[in-house]
Amino acid sequence: MADIIRLLPDFVANQIAAGEVIQRPASAVKELLENAIDAGAQQIKLIVKDSGRTLVQVIDDGCGMSPSDARMSFERHATSKIASADDIFRIRTKGFRGEALASIASVAQVELKTRLTGEELGTHIIIEGSDVKSVEPCQTPVGTSFSMKNLFFNVPARRQFLKSDQVELRHVIDEFQRVALAHPDVGLTFHHNGTEVYHLLKGNFRQRIVQLFGAKYDERLVPVDEETDVVGISGFVGKPEFARKNRGEQFFFVNGRFIKHPYLHHALMAAFDGLLSDGKHPLYFINLKVDPSRIDVNIHPTKTEVKFREEQAIYPILRSAVKRGLGKFQIAPTLDFDRESSFDIEPFDRNRPVVVPGVQVNPEYNPFETERKPHGNLASRMAPRNPTEGWREFYKIVEDDAHLRQQTLDTQDTSSDDSLETKPTLFQMGKAYIVSSIRSGMMLVDQQRAHERILYEQFMSAEQSGVASQRLLFPETIELGAQAHASLVASRELFHALGLEIEDLGGRSIVVHAVPADAASVNVNELVELVLSSLLDETNAAENLQQRIAKGLARASAIKRGRSLSEAEMRDLIDRLFTCELPAYSPTGKPAIVTFTPDEIAAKFR
Ligand code: ADP
Ligand code: MG
Repeated sequence: MADIIRLLPDFVANQIAAGEVIQRPASAVKELLENAIDAGAQQIKLIVKDSGRTLVQVIDDGCGMSPSDARMSFERHATSKIASADDIFRIRTKGFRGEALASIASVAQVELKTRLTGEELGTHIIIEGSDVKSVEPCQTPVGTSFSMKNLFFNVPARRQFLKSDQVELRHVIDEFQRVALAHPDVGLTFHHNGTEVYHLLKGNFRQRIVQLFGAKYDERLVPVDEETDVVGISGFVGKPEFARKNRGEQFFFVNGRFIKHPYLHHALMAAFDGLLSDGKHPLYFINLKVDPSRIDVNIHPTKTEVKFREEQAIYPILRSAVKRGLGKFQIAPTLDFDRESSFDIEPFDRNRPVVVPGVQVNPEYNPFETERKPHGNLASRMAPRNPTEGWREFYKIVEDDAHLRQQTLDTQDTSSDDSLETKPTLFQMGKAYIVSSIRSGMMLVDQQRAHERILYEQFMSAEQSGVASQRLLFPETIELGAQAHASLVASRELFHALGLEIEDLGGRSIVVHAVPADAASVNVNELVELVLSSLLDETNAAENLQQRIAKGLARASAIKRGRSLSEAEMRDLIDRLFTCELPAYSPTGKPAIVTFTPDEIAAKFR
């Protein structure tokens, strides 16, 4: 049987700074689990006693080691994973430094049992503080079992540095979770002091998250997916409403390796902009796939930092991928194409001819705009983008439609017929909510928040698309407080761009000459007051000037609850809402859309 472990050349050995590999029990957990993964294990068992102080054992069903590899594995810089310095930049395995086993063996009592596939006998090695006590053939299953007992038994000073059992166990669990999340295709169990803490079956990423953190996470996750030349992004972020006061589960993985990355964290937070109330932290579980030669895995053994060559490019890609994910999937679990098919309530769906049901958006038509828009061409410049496929599906196909299609299928006529497409009926409830049947279930739209969202995004894209403004027949003079006056005047240009034309009269007075067309029917004093309060609101401090002003203008201009809407107005509102980037939320992060699945509705009738 060929031996596969080589000694690293000296210069590489030096390049790979030795560092302190094993600082606490959790470090050993990480190294041993990663070795098992690198060995191709399908099933890994972690057994820990006293938070790892007395025992950390990892049993795997991976490739195992030959007798001499087993012996060799404890030498410093002995590794089967890289042969030259260049290989460091092509790393696909977790380990590569060949330091872990040597380090562990120098500070603990170690027992290794390992057997190579195809061999009859395995190898049993006992080492204490780097002293080899025995090497013998033994009976053992294929794979490797590695026990680390009495960590730091020979280094009392280090032992004293360990924290309370609770803290050390927390670290152990953290490392276990990171490896488990990075490898959902590997089965893992974790026992602590004889109690099973985790029993993780092989599955997909979503299932792994749910197994680790609980069934309630299923509905909290929004898929994020993006494929570019620079980076592939997949995974989930938590819905904004489940964000927490303390930083909870936030995971980045690069090529299956857990990393911390403040810059990418910032990109992710930027995608949540305006959706989180103060100081809340969203969940995220994000996998990044990058060409290994374009990242620099930190050479220090215990660090989780990674340097990307295309960091600057990855930032906006990540931010917009998350943004799109939030926008597309936020509101409707029924829209989640990633779900298990057992959740699928319309099984017949899959067999019917694929037809893209088009929402007929007439970009020129907008019942909320009367003749007051001065620039004719603006209406078309502000034309909503076409709703995404997902939204079409979501909003368009109603049950009647499905029945009709079934009949079509039954009569062997599989040709698509657009005339069968009907838009769901809309009605208004309590002069505040628009009720609609959707692909599976029912949707309620808060008319005021929905309109605020539409207007907010319109004001935010003012640079590209312009904002129609309405000149006032009688310019309005307004007296303001000193601070208010100063901030209004300072941002005059921006206000102008957003359709609000202000002139400084000196003192504390201003004159308003024009307002955004959408706000034409709003009392000018009220408009200015609302914009000012949003501009000066401390809780908006993290947002830029335009965001704050846009929020205020949207709030002032939006149709309010209590106003009745015609069917055409409702339809237009919803069509425009679904062209928004984040239709499900008001600019202040409150839900604008609520959905009910048939199951939830059925439950009410029980
Ligand atoms: P590294 O993982 O950086 O190569 P380690 O000290 O962790 O260094 O391991 C040294 C070598 O021992 C590995 O390169 C691998 O060949 C072998 N080895 C360690 N653990 C296992 C295991 N569980 N199954 C098979 N081989 C292993
Ligand atoms: Mg290793």
